[in-house]
Amino acid sequence: MSCIFCMIVDGAIPSKKAYEDDEILAFHDINPQAPVHILVIPKVHIPSVDGVTAENSAVVARIFEKIPQIAAAAGLANGYRVISNCGPDACQTVPHLHFHILGGRALTEQMA
Ligand code: 5GP
Ligand code: ZN
Repeated sequence: MSCIFCMIVDGAIPSKKAYEDDEILAFHDINPQAPVHILVIPKVHIPSVDGVTAENSAVVARIFEKIPQIAAAAGLANGYRVISNCGPDACQTVPHLHFHILGGRALTEQMA
């Protein structure tokens, strides 16, 4: 298996977990770009937003159901940003669907 995030799901690569259940995992980004920077991923391998289908979208709904709880547990009472980079123009570097939760300070208005 060559997918870094699948290896994190399997425990082959350690991570600092923020939330886990049978379908999804949240862990702290190794190179944080804000005081709080958490990645939320499906345990099943989906390459990117482009790989979301009617068959697998329930896990995406679950991720978004859990994001408020993960953000609150991380202390993000004043707001946060959720980002998913998809493909080369968005600078996606890990080809396993993930949602960045960024917060802990006032973020810039610039999104790109
Ligand atoms: P992307 O650029 O694909 O949107 O985001 C990938 C994110 O994964 C980056 O923010 C990067 O720092 C993070 N990342 C890459 N490898 C690892 C790792 O092994 N562990 C953790 N915790 N984060 C990683
Ligand atoms: Zn994967």
